[in-house]
Amino acid sequence: MAYPVVEIFGPTMQGEGALAGRMTHFVRFGGCDFACLWCDSAPAVLAEEVRKAPRLNDSDIIAALDQLSGSPAWVTLTGGNPLLHKLGDLTRRLRLSGFKVAVETQGTRFADWLYDVDLVTVSPKGPSAGNVTPLASVAEFVPLHRSRAGSLAFKVVIFNDDDYEYAAQVHAAHPRVPFYLSVGTYMGGLQGDYGSGVPLDDAASIVGRWRQLIERVAADRRFGDVAAFAQLHTLVWGHERGH
Ligand code: SF4
Repeated sequence: MAYPVVEIFGPTMQGEGALAGRMTHFVRFGGCDFACLWCDSAPAVLAEEVRKAPRLNDSDIIAALDQLSGSPAWVTLTGGNPLLHKLGDLTRRLRLSGFKVAVETQGTRFADWLYDVDLVTVSPKGPSAGNVTPLASVAEFVPLHRSRAGSLAFKVVIFNDDDYEYAAQVHAAHPRVPFYLSVGTYMGGLQGDYGSGVPLDDAASIVGRWRQLIERVAADRRFGDVAAFAQLHTLVWGHERGH
């Protein structure tokens, strides 16, 4: 089976969520069932871009990962929405070759092969994205957490007050699932200049909004055991591709 693969890169630092700061390779699959206004992965979402992506099978992907330097413990399968593809065989082979496998999705589709990965991060999209992940879809992932603590995390990116309230709803519905709030960064969206490496949002403004988010969360009784982060890779590399 072959899938559109937009990029394979690493090792680099995971900038968000439960693995923030850890080294990982990334495999970015093409295709997404959303089109978020502020998406930072246009090559994996826009149909004309995805059509140009090479079709790789499991062996191609593993061979490409073998060519990369370093020896990170993790491989992160991202997109787009990697749940558009049947990746059970790939994840099994990656784990057999010694990698821990993380999957990132916006949470619209569940698949049983997720029980065989080490960490699933569901990043449900709030109102500012222009399309919202239904709470019922988010709930479909919770059995992963019940089956093995540490196998599921939720991460909501916050651009505005509506996103913040959406995050509070997700956390209230599933308070035991590890929960991360992440400061959104501005970069032009799907029609923006992603790939130029020119940040549309500077570090000072990101850190300023991070401080606001921390202070808001700290004073909000709805958020007890949660983490509030900036997207750390944007502070280090801006919006340069490959990180
Ligand atoms: S932000 Fe994620 S879910 Fe939204 S369009 Fe981009 S890849 Fe798809």
